[in-house]
Amino acid sequence: MLRRWLFADQLGPHFLDDPRQPVLLVESKAVFRRRVFHRQKAHLILSALRHRAAELGEQAVHVRSEAYADALRQLDEPVDVCHPTSRRARQLVTSLDQVTVRGARGFVTSSADFAAWADDRRGALRLDDFYRDARQRHGVLMDGAEPAGGRWNLDADNHQPPPEHEARLDVPPPPAPVEDEIDAGVRADLDRWAAEGIRFVGRDGPRLFPATRVEALARLRHFVRYRLPISGPYADAMLAADPFMAHSALSPAFNLGLLHPIEAVRRAERAYRDGAAPLGSTEWFIRQLMGWRDYGWHLYWYFDAGDRGNGRPAPRRSLPEWFTGLDAGAVGARCLADVLAGVRDRGWVHHIPRLMVLGNYGLQRGWHSSELVDWFHRCFVDGYEWALTANVAGMSQYADLGRMTTRPYAADGPYLHRMSDYCGGCRYDPDRRLGPDACPFTAGYWAFLDRARERLHGNARMSRAVQQLDRLDDLPEVVSQERERGSLAP
Ligand code: SF4
Repeated sequence: MLRRWLFADQLGPHFLDDPRQPVLLVESKAVFRRRVFHRQKAHLILSALRHRAAELGEQAVHVRSEAYADALRQLDEPVDVCHPTSRRARQLVTSLDQVTVRGARGFVTSSADFAAWADDRRGALRLDDFYRDARQRHGVLMDGAEPAGGRWNLDADNHQPPPEHEARLDVPPPPAPVEDEIDAGVRADLDRWAAEGIRFVGRDGPRLFPATRVEALARLRHFVRYRLPISGPYADAMLAADPFMAHSALSPAFNLGLLHPIEAVRRAERAYRDGAAPLGSTEWFIRQLMGWRDYGWHLYWYFDAGDRGNGRPAPRRSLPEWFTGLDAGAVGARCLADVLAGVRDRGWVHHIPRLMVLGNYGLQRGWHSSELVDWFHRCFVDGYEWALTANVAGMSQYADLGRMTTRPYAADGPYLHRMSDYCGGCRYDPDRRLGPDACPFTAGYWAFLDRARERLHGNARMSRAVQQLDRLDDLPEVVSQERERGSLAP
């Protein structure tokens, strides 16, 4: 049996053919020189890799080197590797001598099944179609040939605003991992690297996410027991004092490969079948995992790099420094300041602040989608290029011009007001679009629609909003106000 080279996002047992298979683990310092990562992301990745090396003991060769190729030269024996998770890494492994590349692991639907599904369609590849197909193929939440409860998607039961007058949901937050001597070693190494000139962004802090399979399984059990039951109704809500709400916060563990998504899907379904979780929440969680997560992964490989769908994207602007530097203190808009502070302090906020605050703001301001993908990749503990291309470039920024989603995810201040408790303490007024207290999301929404009017022509889901635009008698002033605001922190 060949030694299996495991990248730092292939750390679970399902990346080995046999529990006794010899392993190669490589820490490449060049990866951290190349990009300015969030300090807590660098910590989590190194901690997870070193914990895996410690678990495997003599079964693993653990090499700390400048580049991956140095480690392979040093080892000087044939290895195999599961299909890596970025185009850059795939190029590397296919260029090295003595490396055999195996199929991808860690997703529910296989690459061959996805390609057969996508080739059949020859048009827009919609998540809903893919998700139905995957549910049927893998027999998840099915009652015979029918979806459990008679509907494929129970979002009509979800999408609720946060409970009124509650600062937090009435559920325990995910249990924090306990750091050990491996974490202490990682922290000391990162301090030394920073002193040598390797740059990081964000604040250091206690490790908040699982670095081992044992920690990941404990978090999964805790989520299914305490938070899954109400995760659906409040999936789209935001509370300033409750960053985790009822979310699983398991995406870093899935993306490090510590958990296989199908094991979480099966546990969630068991909770539903046992009467411990309602169908709406269970279906939502399963859709995120074997729907969205798999869909993003397969689209990343199915479309060539640079293929952005049909049409020409709008010209884009670079991300401003207050944003890339996570300078939350420079921002007066309460929602954006709080979310940016969450990224700075944790390297993680849940999916709605990502989509409806950070992504929405970038879309309204016309920021480069590729720069946003890079920013999310570097600044989020669970950020990987394959996931972000679909989530940020496709969904949030509409940069593929409708190949994935049927409309851009632009939203105004009243939407954010309804779905969060941010606006009450904000210096801006969500209902105003003009003047010193005009909400930057409300004014930005109309300015974006005005700019995108031609591109959105014929989009049925946006036609009402575009018609409303024509009724705004102060539109020229709003557009000029937002042009002046430009890249300044709102
Ligand atoms: Fe955000 Fe606007 Fe609400 Fe302020 S008023 S918190 S900027 S949505």
